[in-house]
Amino acid sequence: MADGRTGSQTILVVGGGISGLTSAVEAAEAGYDVVLVEKSPYLGGRVAQLHQYFPKLCPPSCGLEINYRRVKQNPRIRFFTMAEVTHLSGSEGNYHATIQIEPRYVNENCTACGKCAEAVGAEISNPFNFGMDKIKAAYVPHPMAFPMRYVLDPSIVATADGKAAQDACAYNAIELDMAPKKLDMNFGAVIWAAGWNPYDAVKLESYGFGQYKNVITNVMMERLAVADGPTMGKIVRPSDGKAPSMVSFFQWAGVHDLS
Ligand SMILES: Cc1cc2nc3c(=O)[nH]c(=O)nc-3n(C[C@H](O)[C@H](O)[C@H](O)COP(=O)(O)OP(=O)(O)OC[C@H]3O[C@@H](n4cnc5c(N)ncnc54)[C@H](O)[C@@H]3O)c2cc1C
Repeated sequence: MADGRTGSQTILVVGGGISGLTSAVEAAEAGYDVVLVEKSPYLGGRVAQLHQYFPKLCPPSCGLEINYRRVKQNPRIRFFTMAEVTHLSGSEGNYHATIQIEPRYVNENCTACGKCAEAVGAEISNPFNFGMDKIKAAYVPHPMAFPMRYVLDPSIVATADGKAAQDACAYNAIELDMAPKKLDMNFGAVIWAAGWNPYDAVKLESYGFGQYKNVITNVMMERLAVADGPTMGKIVRPSDGKAPSMVSFFQWAGVHDLS
């Protein structure tokens, strides 16, 4: 689909974490049209998963919320979640991008009432909590997610659970036949803000991550500490839910792996 609104003055921002969000709002407030592309179902990136955020030591949701509001209020910003740039060509002032948007199976009518989740039996491992708990296969990615809209896991779309979610929705928000979309757009500049991924601790065999349930990573520790995390903010042993009597921290684990 060609889009007449984009042109050489439009900026493409790839990644909706704090870097992409702030780039998008600053560029838009300086007068540029911005298209923000985020591959997960929500904006905020890794910061949204953290506990208390340095330097203010408040939950990251307070800083993120201000940026969500600036995104919402600025007509110069368009954003796509569950979207990735699959092709990028051109040069300064004249880029061409293909953006692939995966189906959420839930449209803008969603009020996040949660009736679809109540109707669904299937559960999936919760990616937001690094698999430390399970969630229904119709879910909001986390309690402060923006956009605050449900997602249907593709595994239930063609099942009785998908139909049950659709029947339970009073707002016609569930679209089981939602298809992937492709957008072709032109941009004057591109900001790549794709961020970081936690180190794959399974590679550190000697520390026993993956072998012993009570060996966790720093980002899992963040999720344990958060009040709406898998343990409601209690630091407990994943093996039995009991408080640990002693904790060891391995700092810089994986730092010698430059692959
Ligand atoms: C344990 C821990 C504690 C921390 N505590 C603090 C703290 O207290 N204070 C502080 O300032 N910093 C802290 N940090 C650092 C902070 O997390 C990073 O500075 C921040 O996440 C960087 O934001 P970002 O937008 O660059 O990247 P990210 O947060 O990684 O966001 C990148 C976004 O891009 C998306 N993306 C990736 N690839 C693509 C693609 N191809 N197409 C579309 N989208 C894509 C991702 O889904 C993600 O949403 C901490 C980090 C850790 C690990």
